[in-house]
Amino acid sequence: MNKSQISWTDTTWSPVTGCTKVSQGCKHCYAEREVTQRWSKNPKSIWYGRAFTDVRCHPEKLEEPLRTKKPKKIFVCPRGDLFHENVPDDFIDSVFGVMWSCLYLRRNCIDGHVFQILTKRPERMQKYLSTNRSETWARHAVHYGGGFEPDGIYDQVLYQSSEPHPRIWLGVSVEDQQIANERIPLLLKTPAALRFISAEPLLGAIDLLCLDDYGLKPKWRNEPGTYNVLEGRWIAAVNDPDFENSSVETDLTKLDWLIVGGESGKNARPMHPEWVRSLRDQCVSTGVPFFFKQWGEWAPNCLCDTKYHHKTIERPPSGLPPPYNRGVMFRCGTKRAGRTLDGVIHDAFPEIAL
Ligand code: SF4
Repeated sequence: MNKSQISWTDTTWSPVTGCTKVSQGCKHCYAEREVTQRWSKNPKSIWYGRAFTDVRCHPEKLEEPLRTKKPKKIFVCPRGDLFHENVPDDFIDSVFGVMWSCLYLRRNCIDGHVFQILTKRPERMQKYLSTNRSETWARHAVHYGGGFEPDGIYDQVLYQSSEPHPRIWLGVSVEDQQIANERIPLLLKTPAALRFISAEPLLGAIDLLCLDDYGLKPKWRNEPGTYNVLEGRWIAAVNDPDFENSSVETDLTKLDWLIVGGESGKNARPMHPEWVRSLRDQCVSTGVPFFFKQWGEWAPNCLCDTKYHHKTIERPPSGLPPPYNRGVMFRCGTKRAGRTLDGVIHDAFPEIAL
């Protein structure tokens, strides 16, 4: 496993590498860029002479989290997608087996790991996790546990994995409202103890307080409504007389963490500051932890020494109501642009309820 530069994790684990594009957020995929520009030319790399679209599973990497001495936040498959259509269910079973093994093998403190799984393929994630796989995971957990505590691990995983583990976090990437409308409902329907979204690269305004129904309506309600995915609250469009004027359902499934970031790289698209502020404000008003990862290539103001001459670009339309003006963005580069939003660094994490 490698120490990660990504600020919301400690380390990365790559049992699957390679991917194919699924939406606008993938257009300038950073992993593809790194592979094409650097690693595919390095004879020592697993990417040597290989296209990014060549999706491979790496059984030889499966045991890496079990060998770590300290508990870590582990980002699973940063250069691929665990739920890519070319990854067989059997292999995903092995990955989950290793995670469960770590969470119940009390060796080297690895039961303190947190696994962060982020996908752009929530349909498959939902389908996979909606079937009972406890027995398969328990078998894999014993296998990868190296025969250590075999009976204890088998029973623990068999019985405990019928409920999602609070240290296995599931997330989806979203870049604009349309994609949020498509992917977030699938995430909310997936069994998980902790759900998050990564809005990076953020390419448009997103309202999470008022998602149109998109199949999120509680089963027992007939009328249309909207869903506040940060509070787990559904609000009926009109009062239904059958429900004695109660137009709100509370304590429904919700998001537990939000990560936001702009795009990096040569062809990066600018992120309107109002899109970020709006998501920050939505999190503040609902108490959901907000993590601002970076501005990306384009900063809202020139953030560096005036000796640099910056290219500017007109801000994209904010998509938010007036009076937000359009203004310009400055090409400061990811490092100089930094990760301060209105003078504050936002790096909140969710609390783990064990
Ligand atoms: S899903 Fe992620 S890794 Fe795959 S192409 Fe899109 S951005 Fe790249």
